[in-house]
Amino acid sequence: MRAIVAHQPHDLRIEERPAAARPGPGEVRVQITRGGICGSDLHYYHHAGFGTVRLKEPMILGHEVAGRIVETGSGITCVAAGDQVAVNPSMPCGHCHFCLRDQRNQCLDMRFFGSAMRFPHMQGLFRDEVTLPVEQVFKVPAALDPGLAACAEPFAVCLHAVAGAGSLLGKSVLVSGCGPIGNLVIAAARHAGAAEITATDLAGAPLAIAASLGASRTLNLAEAPEALAPFAERKGLFDVVFECSGSARALATALEVVRPGGTLIAVGLGGDIPLPLNLVVAKEVILKGSFRFDAEFAWAVQLISSGAVDLSPLISATLPAGEADAAFRLASDRSQSMKVQLAFNN
Ligand SMILES: [Zn+2]
Ligand SMILES: [Zn+2]
Repeated sequence: MRAIVAHQPHDLRIEERPAAARPGPGEVRVQITRGGICGSDLHYYHHAGFGTVRLKEPMILGHEVAGRIVETGSGITCVAAGDQVAVNPSMPCGHCHFCLRDQRNQCLDMRFFGSAMRFPHMQGLFRDEVTLPVEQVFKVPAALDPGLAACAEPFAVCLHAVAGAGSLLGKSVLVSGCGPIGNLVIAAARHAGAAEITATDLAGAPLAIAASLGASRTLNLAEAPEALAPFAERKGLFDVVFECSGSARALATALEVVRPGGTLIAVGLGGDIPLPLNLVVAKEVILKGSFRFDAEFAWAVQLISSGAVDLSPLISATLPAGEADAAFRLASDRSQSMKVQLAFNN
């Protein structure tokens, strides 16, 4: 089978690998049909890692995939050959301190497909086939666009962020930074009942997608740097801010426009950026991070499958897996790409 393997910066190879193993008891073999390129995949592609996470050996990329069951091991009744599934790439150990405390996304022994956090690296899912425990697959309707099924993972990340903010019913929300995560936070916040969603970015194209996913107002801060100034009145007007850009400037602005007692959810990773602590203290801001997801994967699958959310505006291009390098270059161009996906086995 083919696999898409990162070796060095800008050295992405399509390699032949052994076929997926026959599924054992409790396992399924999945033929991958679609895979979304994530920001972390792009970091491996451009920089061979991010922060302290570095590629120390070649690694198959990819963790946002959908596919079709081709074979089931013994004892499997919940899915059958032919079923279309979304694949949950997160494999918490199930028995560490955090897994036992219902914080599986903080697992001390997490295995996450396509991640170099552990060594040997956990190989990813941009490949023709994979065999994995049946707990990792979630059945979706046969007629569902596989591209939408492959959005379940990033949407789960965003449902986790939105769930962390508490009830959004009637709330005024700011989403800062409209890459794929910011845009999916908008879809999640809209579904969660936010009264008003303001979206900001430094480019027009992502904001057009934000509007189609549920933003009530879009502000281009490159064209109008002061556009958020009116929202800093009376110590800040937003009940909840989702900071999805990871930029120092955006974080500072977020703390100016969140209301006293409001909530700031940090979703974007920004490295060691400064935090205007006096604003957090004086305005009694609830500052909270959000990392990965847990039960939200099943919620994401359900919302996508039922059509309760339509994430199709997010998908900006789909390229054959054989054109992976071109797809990664396209995905890196924010002026024309939001979510670029790879098509396998078609
Ligand atoms: Zn992702
Ligand atoms: Zn664990």
